[in-house]
Amino acid sequence: LKRDNAQYLWHPMAHPQAMQKAKPDIIARGEGCWIWDVDGHRMLDGVGGLWAANLGHSNKAVRDAIVAQLDELPFYNVFRGTTHPRAIELSKRIVQTMEPDGVTAVFFSNGGSDAVEGALKLARQYWKLKGQADRHKFIALRQGYHGVHFGGMSVNGNLNFRRAYEPLLPGCFHVDTPWLYRNPYTQDLEELGEICATLLEREILFQGPDTVAAFIAEPIQGAGGVIVPPPNYWPRVREICDKYGVLLIADEVVTGFGRGGAMFGTRLWNVKADLWCLAKGISSGYVPLGATAIGAKVAEAFMDDPTGQAAVGHGYTYSAHPVAAAAALATLDQIEALDVPGNAARVGAHFQARARPFAERFSFVGDVRGMGLMLGIEMVADKATRATLPRGNPVAAKVAQAAYRRGLMVRISGPNLILSPPLVITREEVDFMVDALEGAFAEVEA
Ligand code: PMP
Repeated sequence: LKRDNAQYLWHPMAHPQAMQKAKPDIIARGEGCWIWDVDGHRMLDGVGGLWAANLGHSNKAVRDAIVAQLDELPFYNVFRGTTHPRAIELSKRIVQTMEPDGVTAVFFSNGGSDAVEGALKLARQYWKLKGQADRHKFIALRQGYHGVHFGGMSVNGNLNFRRAYEPLLPGCFHVDTPWLYRNPYTQDLEELGEICATLLEREILFQGPDTVAAFIAEPIQGAGGVIVPPPNYWPRVREICDKYGVLLIADEVVTGFGRGGAMFGTRLWNVKADLWCLAKGISSGYVPLGATAIGAKVAEAFMDDPTGQAAVGHGYTYSAHPVAAAAALATLDQIEALDVPGNAARVGAHFQARARPFAERFSFVGDVRGMGLMLGIEMVADKATRATLPRGNPVAAKVAQAAYRRGLMVRISGPNLILSPPLVITREEVDFMVDALEGAFAEVEA
């Protein structure tokens, strides 16, 4: 299997020509937190299949559930007149799991972008059912990432994911992310939380509260560079949304199912959203699955609709695919049995503590931040001025290569290195990961 033979394959978020020259690493096997490429090179999976492979790569219970489902019923639709046992079981399981968050129903799809699309569409439909069709606008964060469909793309903050596809959905607006390292306002956490919440309030007032359907954000921003908001931010956001009747959509595609050290990111701040976007960790990457969890307020508007117009005009051939639902049920069992969020909190605290000093130690590391088992290392051209590196981030590429030679797979995202290993990682494996990173940084620094 030669790398040159990958010429027909277009990779997401990559230049087709550049990928041919870059000769992508062909990952051939995975076991636990480890992956092997076709040449037999063994690496710790510091990327975790893009925040998805939370249970690692060879969980037997999930594998067995998938095989059993293939033998029983490989496929049938959840549609108007049909459903199947795994869909019923999984919906009940998710609602039970999220009962403390106020969730009463769930809508299934095939991945994170779908989960976001479902949330945006349900939010718009909610306001129509309430007789307030003018509430059609969405507000989101400047560094936010919400997938690739036209709705999600329109609320994405990063222009790089939007530019080639404009014009997008009208009525989408962005406010500043509560980002300590690069905000122009203050380096005081508390003050920053208040300022960024106020910016949201001002935007709602500027747009006219009666025109705003929802505010959508990630509890901790992932692709934007692992940005953990100040402690007062989310509670203030909830207050503001309540004050103006704006729905709150939590995009938990990355933070859902344990990554931040709690089962859901919103729980880290004791906040309840109105709609939650779920994917990745829901099936630990074994199969594609997305879900939009629906809070009581939104669900009731559909259930109580006196006009009889409340049909959900949204859905997929593969909504709650039986194999995906079976994998998710087994994943949820494993998350509980292995106390995955607890492990992410405990081992993650060790990971964060060991990685933070990189910001003092290496001349090109400006900021190290994160929570649980998500870590962002922002690289800079000049630490004193925080000047950014040129596009393409040559330093990160060198670090990634040096890490690869040391047996660690890392992800480069703009100016950041992002680490998001499986959530079943041990303290020893975290030490391996940090040692490899440290060695790679030292090599590039020398
Ligand atoms: N929302 C967030 C917060 C994400 O990080 C991602 C993917 N990284 C998505 C949505 C889109 O998910 P998917 O790639 O499964 O469509």
